[in-house]
Amino acid sequence: MSNERPLLLIISSPSGAGKTTLTARLLAEVKGLTFSISHTTRKPRHNETDGKEYHFVSRDEFEKLIEQGSFLEWAEVHGNLYGTSKAEIHSRKSDRGIVFDIDHQGARQIKCAAPDSVAVFILPPNMKVLEQRLRGRASEDEETVQRRFGVAKREIEHYGLFDYVLVNAELEEATRKLTSIFLAEECRRSRVAALAEQFLAEGRLRSAPLPKP
Ligand code: ADP
Ligand code: 5GP
Repeated sequence: MSNERPLLLIISSPSGAGKTTLTARLLAEVKGLTFSISHTTRKPRHNETDGKEYHFVSRDEFEKLIEQGSFLEWAEVHGNLYGTSKAEIHSRKSDRGIVFDIDHQGARQIKCAAPDSVAVFILPPNMKVLEQRLRGRASEDEETVQRRFGVAKREIEHYGLFDYVLVNAELEEATRKLTSIFLAEECRRSRVAALAEQFLAEGRLRSAPLPKP
């Protein structure tokens, strides 16, 4: 289904709760859904490629983009700058939906700009599991793991901003829940109203009396 106004799906969580994993699974499940590739000043992890997970840029380049008004939203997270460029969204206008893996500050900005966007917050089953997942990712040093774990509780304080809160315990079940949220949101009356109105207008035209010859 092609759309002039794709569904904007924001996914946030404390670092390590599983949003990258769940986002990848959602994208594999739902055809026509695409991922918004953010800009960041963070260094790429060993398994990341420029232009795939992120557009990796220097702080100077990022600040220039801020000055030029290129971002729909941006924020400083864990000491690095992250942002969603307006160009990224405009290039995906005909998509079924766009998924944003962004923090609560970015979620707030997108919710403000697009109130019909849908925001999902991912929680770990408990804090012990969160710590294990952060460490198990093995892509950061111990200091980074500790810093990210330390700010997790403060990130959870913002759960009230989100429309849905999903506990990522068992991966298959969490994936099913996230996919269900997207599919149900696609059926929200406000999103389908234009089509229903179009059917009604066609019906009115057809049932109108024929003009006399
Ligand atoms: P985030 O993007 O929120 O920082 P990730 O998706 O990178 O988190 O997940 C952190 C780690 O936890 C990864 O190693 C991932 O494979 C693992 N993980 C994610 N979800 C689950 C789950 N439901 N069960 C077990 N491990 C998981
Ligand atoms: P990571 O370094 O683990 O990839 O991401 C760190 C945090 O930055 C995560 O909470 C992630 O959701 C957030 N993030 C990634 N891209 C963006 C973005 O474009 N904007 C904002 N506000 N946060 C982002």
